[in-house]
Amino acid sequence: MNRLLDVENLTLQFDTDEGRITAVDNVSFTLGAGEVMGLVGESGSGKSVTAKSLMKLNPDNAIYGDETKIILHLDGGPVDIMSLHTSSDLKVIRGGAISMIFQEPMASFAPAITIGNQMVEQLQIHTDMTAKKAQELSIEMLARVGISDASTRFKQFAFELSGGMRQRAMIAMALSTKPKLLIADEPTTALDVTIQAQVIDLMKDLVSEFGMGIIFITHDLGVIAQTADSVAVMYLGRLVEQGPVREVIRTPAHPYTKGLIAALPQLDDLDVPLTPIPGDIPSPLERPPGCVFNTRCAVAIEGLCTREIPLFTQVAQKHQVACHLYSEGDDK
Ligand code: SF4
Repeated sequence: MNRLLDVENLTLQFDTDEGRITAVDNVSFTLGAGEVMGLVGESGSGKSVTAKSLMKLNPDNAIYGDETKIILHLDGGPVDIMSLHTSSDLKVIRGGAISMIFQEPMASFAPAITIGNQMVEQLQIHTDMTAKKAQELSIEMLARVGISDASTRFKQFAFELSGGMRQRAMIAMALSTKPKLLIADEPTTALDVTIQAQVIDLMKDLVSEFGMGIIFITHDLGVIAQTADSVAVMYLGRLVEQGPVREVIRTPAHPYTKGLIAALPQLDDLDVPLTPIPGDIPSPLERPPGCVFNTRCAVAIEGLCTREIPLFTQVAQKHQVACHLYSEGDDK
C-alpha cells in the first residue's frame, strides 16, 4: 500500500479568554492510499480538530507546535501542509487533493445556490474542465451516489432535498474532484439506520474504485468495525491506542478503549447491562497531569499514572497502546 499521509507530532493549542488550551497533543499516525482509518473517541477528544488540521481549517487563534509535520504524498511529490499559508497555496489541498464531508450537509452547501452550480464551481476551481464537462460529471456523480433523477436534483437547492439525499449530494460533491484523501466527520450520525448502512457501503465502494484514503471520524466503534482497516483512539487530545481494526476491537489494550467497547450494546444478548465509562471527559483547561485518562481509569497505578505521560508500546503487530500497564516486553 502506497503511503498517502504522514502526521508527526501534531500539537495544536488555542488562545481563549480563559487561557491557552491544548486541543491536540503530540499526535502521530500514517495512512496508506486505499486505507480507511477510523478516528474514535468521545466528544471533546480532539478528533475533529485533528482532521481539520490536515486542511488547516482551524480558526486563526490556532497555534501549531514547532515539531508538527503533516506531509501528503501526491503523484507530483510530497506536499508539506504546514508550509502552506495563503488561500492560493491551500487550494491544492482544500477541496482538491483533500475533501471533507460533515455530519450536517447543510454546512457544506450555500443555501441560495443550486447544488449543481456549487458542484460545477468547485470542479472549475480545481480542474481545467469546461462548464459543460463539469456539469456532465456532476450529474454523473449524483447518479453514482444513488440519487435518482440526478439532472433534476442538480438544479435544486439543498433545502429541497431530504436529509439522506443531501448527505449523498455532499459525498458526490466531495468525490467529484477525485480527492486523494477524504475526511468524513461523523458522516452518518444524523442519518437513520438504513440510510446510514447505504452511505457506508457507498463509501467503501468508492474507496476501492478511486483508491483514496479515508479518515472516518466517529464516536461509534460499531460503525468503525464495519468500515475501517485501522483505528486510532483519541482521548483529550492524545492518541491512546492504534492498530488494525479487528485486532483493536477484539483485543483492546487501553482501559479507555476497553471502556468504549463495554459501553456498546450487545445485540446477541440484550440482558447484558451497558457499562458506561464513569465520569466525564475533563475540560481541556483542566488537563490531568501524567496520563490524561487517569481521572476516570479504574486501574490507574498510584504514584505513576498521575505523574508520567505513558509512551506508546507495541502490544502486537502494528498495534500500539500508550498506557503504563504495558511496558516494553510486557503483554498484559
Ligand atoms: Fe489507566 Fe494509568 Fe493506563 Fe492511564 S496509564 S490508562 S491511568 S493505567
